[in-house]
Amino acid sequence: PFSTASGETVRATLFPGDGIGPEIAESVKQVFNVAGVPIEWEEHYVGTEVDPRTESFLTWESLESVRRNKVGLKGPMATPIGKGHRSLNLTLRKELGLYANVRPCNSLPGYKTRYDDVNLVTIRENTEGEYSGLEHQVVRGVVESLKIITRQASLRVAEYAFHYAKTNGRERVSAIHKANIMRKTDGLFLKCCREVAEKYPEIVYEEVIIDNCCMTLVKNPGLFDVLVMPNLYGDIISDLCAGLIGGLGLTPSCNIGEGGICLAEAVHGSAPDIAGKNLANPTALMLSAVMMLRHLQFNNQADRIHNAILQTISEGKFRTADLGGKASTSDFTKAVCDHI
Ligand code: ATP
Ligand code: MG
Repeated sequence: PFSTASGETVRATLFPGDGIGPEIAESVKQVFNVAGVPIEWEEHYVGTEVDPRTESFLTWESLESVRRNKVGLKGPMATPIGKGHRSLNLTLRKELGLYANVRPCNSLPGYKTRYDDVNLVTIRENTEGEYSGLEHQVVRGVVESLKIITRQASLRVAEYAFHYAKTNGRERVSAIHKANIMRKTDGLFLKCCREVAEKYPEIVYEEVIIDNCCMTLVKNPGLFDVLVMPNLYGDIISDLCAGLIGGLGLTPSCNIGEGGICLAEAVHGSAPDIAGKNLANPTALMLSAVMMLRHLQFNNQADRIHNAILQTISEGKFRTADLGGKASTSDFTKAVCDHI
C-alpha cells in the first residue's frame, strides 16, 4: 500500500458483493493503485451461511470491520431467498445505524441526456418512514402499514443535509414532503427541518410538495440544489434523478451512519443478467469510491480519479454497453487508469 504525507495508511472495508460486484470492485482497486491512494482494503464477502450473531449472511466480523474503520465501499448485494435471515441491506442499515443516504446527481459532460445542467444532491432519511417494516393484516381483506416519523431521526437527517450544504458550498436546501395530506408525519418532518434551518441562516430553505417536485425535476432540474426527504420519497426521487443523467451505471451514493461511518455504494443492483461477462459499467462504483475519498479528505486523489472518469466518458472512445458503447469493463477501467 501507498502512504500519506505523514506516512500513514488508512484501512477501509470493501464488500465486493454479488453479481457484477467483484468485477467493478476490481476496477476500483486498479484505479486506486494507479492513483496512489493510501488505502489498505479489508475485504469481506457475503457468507454462504447465516451468521447467528447478525441473523444474516453478513458476518459479525465484516460489520465490526466497518465499525472499526468507519469507512468502506460496498458493491451490490443480492439477498439469498429463504427464511430465517435478514436482508443484507437491512442488516447493514440497522447494525451500522446508516441514517442518511446521499446521492449527488451531476450531468456528465460529453454524455448527452435531455439536460446538461443537472447538479443536485438528494439526501434520504434511511431508517424509518414507510419503510419501518411494520405491516399487518387487520382483518381479511384489510391490511395496515405504519409510517413512523420521529423527531430524532428527522432532526438528524435535516442536520446532516444543512451541514452537507454548508460544507459543500451549496446554497439551498429543499425539504420534500406531502404535509398537506400527511399532516402529522410529514408535518413533524418539516417542523424539524425548519428548526435546523434556523441554525443555518446562510442557507436558503424552502419546502416543496413531492408531486410538484417531480414535475419541476423533469421540466427543469437545474432549479434544485440539495433536497432532503423522508425514506419512501427519497427512494423514488433519487432514482428519478439518476434517470436524468443517464442511468444506474453512473450514479454513486454514500451512506452516513452513527459515529461518523461513511459507507459508499453504487445505487444499482447486482445485474445478474450481465454478471461475469466483463460488460458492467464500473463508473457508479468508481464515483462512490471518489465520494469515500472526499470523506477521508484525500481530495487530490479524488480529483484525479474523478477527472479521469469524466474525460474517459466524454471522449467517448471507451464506453460500456449501457452507454451505447462497445467497451468491456476492463477496457473502460484501463482507459480511466491511463487518464490518471
Ligand atoms: P437487484 O435486485 O440486485 O437490485 P435489479 O434487477 O433490481 O437487481 P439492477 O441489478 O440494478 O436491478 O439491474 C437493472 C438493469 O440495469 C439490468 O438490466 C442491469 O444489467 C443494468 N445495470 C445495473 N447496473 C449496471 C452497471 N453497473 N452497468 C451496466 N448495466 C447495469
Ligand atoms: Mg434493484
